[in-house]
Amino acid sequence: MPQAGKSTDFGFERVPLEDKQALVDDVFHSVARRYDLMNDLMSGGLHRAWKDALVTAINPPKARPGGHTDKIERTFHLLDIAGGTGDIALRTIAAGGASTRATVIDINADMLAVGRARAAERGVDDAVAFVEGNAETLPFPARSYDAVTIAFGIRNVPRIETALAEAHRVLRFGGQFLCLEFSAVDVPGLDTLYDFYSFNVIPALGSAVAGDADAYRYLVESIRRFPRPEAFAEMMRCAGFARVSYQRMSGGIVALHSGWRL
Ligand code: SAM
Repeated sequence: MPQAGKSTDFGFERVPLEDKQALVDDVFHSVARRYDLMNDLMSGGLHRAWKDALVTAINPPKARPGGHTDKIERTFHLLDIAGGTGDIALRTIAAGGASTRATVIDINADMLAVGRARAAERGVDDAVAFVEGNAETLPFPARSYDAVTIAFGIRNVPRIETALAEAHRVLRFGGQFLCLEFSAVDVPGLDTLYDFYSFNVIPALGSAVAGDADAYRYLVESIRRFPRPEAFAEMMRCAGFARVSYQRMSGGIVALHSGWRL
């Protein structure tokens, strides 16, 4: 329901809260086809290492021959929120094997279409479901997932507290929530370089490769507006997560937050 008078950040702009989602949707409709290529170009392939760290933290039980797993003998089910083109889901399935299933939910049909095609190419379309939906109103029953993740997605969601509460609701007791997101670089020297790269090189790359400099300007600006790691950890605690912790990677370019439903 629209909240009259409330505003929020869309990059460096202030916009009415109820307008943000449509603006974000325009960004991802525009870049969907080039999204994965741009990730590699912008990060020099580093996003793969960050995502590997996330999948290692998810630690899906490995299937053993005969269908048994080293931890439990039932299916491990991941929900990846704002999962876009399915990168986290596909990596988790590759790591866990036959006993792992994933559901990707994303508000953007174009991003999901790229993900569906990737899953089919890899022959894992039976193991992953792509669902169009909003992180703020997840269409899933309470306590239905073993792990819930969101990678580079939460800063795009207008009502972050609502999305965190939803992630907590759908997680089973004993399940882990992991959030991978760009963060704040605190290393002297690296911060200046990172700012130069972010505000000059990335929009230029966005223009050359995805045909949309503004979309990538928004992505860079939205990173600067996202709460610092401790503030985000506190938001997770407020949403009900326990044992909240985080690790910063690559000089603080990204942070991986973890919390549990106990
Ligand atoms: N998680 C993917 C990855 O790591 O490659 C995609 C991240 S992409 C930067 C952000 C994604 O968030 C987009 O696919 C966008 O459509 C999605 N998104 C934005 N707002 C959303 C919302 N309210 N609910 C669900 N997905 C949302």
